[in-house]
Amino acid sequence: MMKLLLMLFLSLVAAASFGQTKQMAVTVDDLPTVVYSKETPDFHMGIAQQLIDTFERYDIPAIGYVNEGKLYTNGTLDSSQVDILELWVANGYELGNHTFSHASYHRLPFQQYSAEVLNGAKYSRMLSDKYNRSFTYFRHPFLHIGTSKKKADSLSRFLNKQGYIEAPVTIDNEDYIFAKAYHIAYSKGDNALMGKIGKAYVSYMVDKVKYFEWASKQLFDRNIAQTLLIHANLLNAHCLDDLAEAYQELGYEFISQSKVLEDEAYQEPITKYGSWGISWIDRWALSRGKKGDFFEKDPRTPEFVKALAQ
Ligand SMILES: [Zn+2]
Repeated sequence: MMKLLLMLFLSLVAAASFGQTKQMAVTVDDLPTVVYSKETPDFHMGIAQQLIDTFERYDIPAIGYVNEGKLYTNGTLDSSQVDILELWVANGYELGNHTFSHASYHRLPFQQYSAEVLNGAKYSRMLSDKYNRSFTYFRHPFLHIGTSKKKADSLSRFLNKQGYIEAPVTIDNEDYIFAKAYHIAYSKGDNALMGKIGKAYVSYMVDKVKYFEWASKQLFDRNIAQTLLIHANLLNAHCLDDLAEAYQELGYEFISQSKVLEDEAYQEPITKYGSWGISWIDRWALSRGKKGDFFEKDPRTPEFVKALAQ
């Protein structure tokens, strides 16, 4: 009898852990914040605080990628922007480098781009040291990693030498288009429209995850640990609760930047290069010779959102 109970218990444990196999890292780009019009320091801080409140409610070990150029107004350091970074780190969230001014590696020569990386770390590193957090990851702006193997490799070597680990994205999306439309609706005080955009956003983001789960299974025969990219904007400040809820319902647990990279899928080689800024799942698919039809199911941003964001 005891043996039977033990076996039942073990099979229940196995079933429970199987149900928990979906994992996602939440990575937030373009810190301190992304706004689409001039706003007060409180407005900026409010975005960061609401994001952090959601991280805490849903146990999300998020990382924020910083553009330190945004800490300055007309060349003068704006301490209220530095305070936002400090809020992240003081609450236990890691920061990463996203270049000084959100530079594209496809538009800048290596020398200038590497200076962007070096100049993009001053305050993030200082704050990470102050709170004893690691400062290790690099996120390519526009997901531009280089238009050729040679160009991509020189950047990888440089980042490596500087102690950085490159942080790929698997769930790429157009949250920034929704965010612009949302901010415009907010500025007009149009709550109904904000609600409509927010709802469309969450449903689009759920479809995106389902699409990349499908693509992941096509390539790896399993759903790999996913990396979500979102931006530090008002839309996510207001909608991240609903999004986290929806992802939990899909069976996801939230994991850190370092944990997601333990999935060996991230070692998959890239052999095809182009001027695109795309999900790593798409890069791996292209590298394996997948053609247009593979990408057809990728959800599109609704036309009404695009029209509003223009
Ligand atoms: Zn960015």
